[in-house]
Amino acid sequence: MLDRINMNFVSRCNLRCPFCYIPFDSSPVTFSMCEQVLTRCKHLGFSIITIGGGDPMRYDFIDDLLIRARECFPFVHLDTNLLRMNAQRAEVVNANVNLIGIPVDGSTAALHNLVRNAPNHFETIEQNISFLDSSRLSIKINTVATTQNLADILSIGESIKIFHPTRWSVYEYWPLGIGLPNQSNFILSVDQYAALERDLSKRYWPFIVETNSVKSRDGTYLFVTQAGQLYILDSGGNNGYLTLGSIFDDDVVATAMSIPRKPLRTQAESRYS
Ligand code: SF4
Repeated sequence: MLDRINMNFVSRCNLRCPFCYIPFDSSPVTFSMCEQVLTRCKHLGFSIITIGGGDPMRYDFIDDLLIRARECFPFVHLDTNLLRMNAQRAEVVNANVNLIGIPVDGSTAALHNLVRNAPNHFETIEQNISFLDSSRLSIKINTVATTQNLADILSIGESIKIFHPTRWSVYEYWPLGIGLPNQSNFILSVDQYAALERDLSKRYWPFIVETNSVKSRDGTYLFVTQAGQLYILDSGGNNGYLTLGSIFDDDVVATAMSIPRKPLRTQAESRYS
């Protein structure tokens, strides 16, 4: 089951969202290192790569890395907060990325910026998303459902229509990474998230709506850092990560394969077909 791998830049990010799930570690970042990780993932047989946060576009070499990813994988998925998008870089993204994930966590700039603790971020998204060419790549809007925006989620669905996404992914907040200490401010009950899923399913949306509970995601992810450290979610209610070692170590790959993982959930699988 070596289909999809998530390559995360865990050094740092240009935002500090209080519910972020990334375990930041200030580790070094170089193009050479990232390129070697991509190449290793290709040789191991992965066919889908998700390159994600901390924001990959904060690195000047990301254009070259996306071109290399295009050479290595049939499907390239990029997650970015769009802070560092511009017309020139968008050309590279449009040409080399199949699917781009962009966060929207409020139906208004005021709520989104408050939830993300990021003044003017919503306005930046509005401006920079216009550089993307939706005829060449698919746009996926990502929303993290928390107590802070639960009452606003249906309105978010309405507001993002102007971005012409093909897909809207609503994620139940999962207390992990730097977001773990803030869980009392964000966490939903199982019943609250189930009610949200029901409400979303009752409406017509002009895009695919993907609901992602914690339970549906648990056991499905395999991560590699930009420095090549392989890790998984520590399933079993621990809300943590388990580091497996370097992706360049054959034993580590065998270890990763021996840990039972669920297949990609059906809703997410259709992203990559
Ligand atoms: S949620 Fe995304 S944008 Fe926010 S700090 Fe984490 S990686 Fe950065």
